[in-house]
Amino acid sequence: MLGRKINRLLVANRGEIAIRIFRAATELGIRTVAVYSEQDNVSIHRFKADESYLVGAGKGPIEAYLDIDSIIEIAKRNDIDAIHPGYGFLAENAEFAKRCQDEGIIFIGPSPELIDKFGDKVEARRLAIEANIPVIPGTPEPIETLQEALLFAKEYGYPIIIKGVSGGGGRGMRIVRSQDELQDSLDRARSEARSSFGNAKVYLERYLEQPKHIEVQILGDNHGNIVHLFERDCSVQRRHQKVVEVAPSLSLDDKLREEICQSALTLMQKAGYSNAGTVEFLLTPDNRFYFIEVNPRIQVEHTITELITGIDIVQAQIRVAEGHALSDEEIGIADQSQIQMSGFAIQCRVTTEDAENNFLPDAGRLSAWRSGGGFGVRLDGGNGYPGAIITPFYDSLLVKISTYGTSFDQAARKMLRTLREFRIRGVKTNLPFLENVVTHPDFLSGSYDTSFIDTKPELFI
Ligand code: ADP
Repeated sequence: MLGRKINRLLVANRGEIAIRIFRAATELGIRTVAVYSEQDNVSIHRFKADESYLVGAGKGPIEAYLDIDSIIEIAKRNDIDAIHPGYGFLAENAEFAKRCQDEGIIFIGPSPELIDKFGDKVEARRLAIEANIPVIPGTPEPIETLQEALLFAKEYGYPIIIKGVSGGGGRGMRIVRSQDELQDSLDRARSEARSSFGNAKVYLERYLEQPKHIEVQILGDNHGNIVHLFERDCSVQRRHQKVVEVAPSLSLDDKLREEICQSALTLMQKAGYSNAGTVEFLLTPDNRFYFIEVNPRIQVEHTITELITGIDIVQAQIRVAEGHALSDEEIGIADQSQIQMSGFAIQCRVTTEDAENNFLPDAGRLSAWRSGGGFGVRLDGGNGYPGAIITPFYDSLLVKISTYGTSFDQAARKMLRTLREFRIRGVKTNLPFLENVVTHPDFLSGSYDTSFIDTKPELFI
């Protein structure tokens, strides 16, 4: 069932995800269009598209990619059928999705209403509660006063985590371990939330000690069909940001896997979700899982799900946006039972962060760049080549390495080999740190949780 064929696709993003989307589109016979900021004049993503246009002239490096008017103007001038927002920038901006709709351009993602709903974490929790999905004890509304926080603490005890209602990227969260920290932490969390997300509203959750982060990949069409593509374990985190991801999780047996995936599906079915999305959970050491949030977009770590299921999620997103049903030949998922996982995949995010210097992102000219590769290795990059200039303006991600093996151990050995094959000179990278992660006995045995990096000083040597 086709709504409207996409012939010309614009990606309102940069770097590796823009290139990832161009590749998916090109294979579908779709012409690709890049936008680039002035600062990205020589950034490789612009040359990987069939056409490219300067966006947000005169604006700052980030602001250019957030310039809705400029993007829409380029799209209209160039006969664009659809816009893919990638992740970050405008990916979770309901106003942008609505604007596309109003201008007759397909926005590749869920509806503006759903982006809005899931963009508000308190609202998302409410939806989860209505769908009978376990949530972490938390305040049902954003909190305003110290009194409200004290009441919550009295009922549920410490530690508490303060989270921004519009939060993302692990930013703006504060853990409070005792009453005397509460007021100060509230003030700081609010001001951080205001400056990072333009919304000072915060809410409270009970802070779970040493949980695992398990998330379920969802894919839905515009006709009410929805499936899951199993889970990813993203517990290897630094400052609540993912560093290494694994699919499937080593910590779930079949029953628990089925329960978590079904919960994610129930929530998204109830929400009437379409396109790709992720439902995130925390799993406690006693194997209880709790909903934390929904990301209504493609995620950085979607690659490992593609490796274990063989499904190209970005192509499915494009086909769904065209109006295809999941069961149409173009997507080819007649029902849930058709999605099988096999083997194991690991993703490492290679960044310009210097692990010896508090992970400060580095910038400069790459004097050497030699890639790893080989059987079972997938690279999603774009910025790295000899002579490339890494600017300090954007995300410090250089390349994503995803490896696939029939066993977890094989995937891990491929990862280690690939990390060691890489030679990057001219900027500092986290390659040595990643090597330490993927050789750590706790990583290899799957007995790691979100406290892994913080509690292992040996990873930093
Ligand atoms: P963001 O949207 O900023 O990524 P999330 O709500 O997805 O925020 O949480 C990111 C990470 O923060 C989680 O993977 C987990 O490590 C930690 N976290 C969030 N909420 C809690 C909680 N209630 N208890 C313990 N850790 C939490």
